[in-house]
Amino acid sequence: MPSSPCPAGATRNPFTSVETPAVGVSIEKLTKNFGPLKVLKDVTFSVEPGEIFVLMGPSGSGKSVLLKHIVGLELPTSGRVMLDGKDASSEETREHVRMALVFQSGALFNSLSVYDNLALYPREHQVADEAGIREKVMHALQILSLDGTEQKSPSDLSGGMKKRVAIARALVMEPQLMLYDEPTSELDPVTSATISEIIATLKEEYHVTTIVVSHDRQLAFGIADRVGILMDGELISLGPPADLKTSKDPRVAEFLNPKIDLKNPRFKHLETKP
Ligand code: ADP
Ligand code: MG
Repeated sequence: MPSSPCPAGATRNPFTSVETPAVGVSIEKLTKNFGPLKVLKDVTFSVEPGEIFVLMGPSGSGKSVLLKHIVGLELPTSGRVMLDGKDASSEETREHVRMALVFQSGALFNSLSVYDNLALYPREHQVADEAGIREKVMHALQILSLDGTEQKSPSDLSGGMKKRVAIARALVMEPQLMLYDEPTSELDPVTSATISEIIATLKEEYHVTTIVVSHDRQLAFGIADRVGILMDGELISLGPPADLKTSKDPRVAEFLNPKIDLKNPRFKHLETKP
């Protein structure tokens, strides 16, 4: 990785070292309904250029749907998402802002080698000749400490290595904006910590604006500049991680430190009969 610091307000391309202005994201009164289901309710926040923003919240609260609006896979019912000051739903904006989403599942092709998974996008978009693509792919694998895996199938790798391959594949897109959906789910705590470190390092080295959807508290408190909490489609909390611990909102405290109450009717089926 490059050793000279990337200036504030710029994103450095990991492969060419060319610096471009860092990109900000602005979510403005975003509402999304699927038929009668109200999934996002008037959500407003912005992510500063070069920031790591972690969006937390229980399952089903609308986190993945929100990410899909940023990459243009879903369109708002009302409100809008702006990337670098331009509407995210337009084709032109998506061509102008280079972004990469690391899917929760990894979305890797097991029928292709690790190398071919990484080469897929640059080949499709003819970003370079095969020698140029090879250089990018090998460099991305090196950044993620995956040297030697290029001929393997993703199915032969551990969960943590698969996640690193998915991140390397995103990096090959030379993103100014990296989005991660639950990057540490299904990983053990040590591997989760490694993935969190990688996310933070990519941001430090390249100043890639980073949005992470996660309910991993270690990750949020470890690497986030700011955290938002989404609950039932509403943003109930927004601020630096330290502020969460002192939040007066009981929903925030309950989310961060859930109490198990065996008298709760939810656990009725566990009661033993005399
Ligand atoms: P999470 O916070 O766990 O990522 P999601 O954003 O995936 O939650 O989903 C929020 C809600 O929206 C869920 O109730 C989910 O079933 C619903 N949902 C997501 N995508 C669709 C869709 N394409 N059509 C209908 N309902 C959807
Ligand atoms: Mg999700």
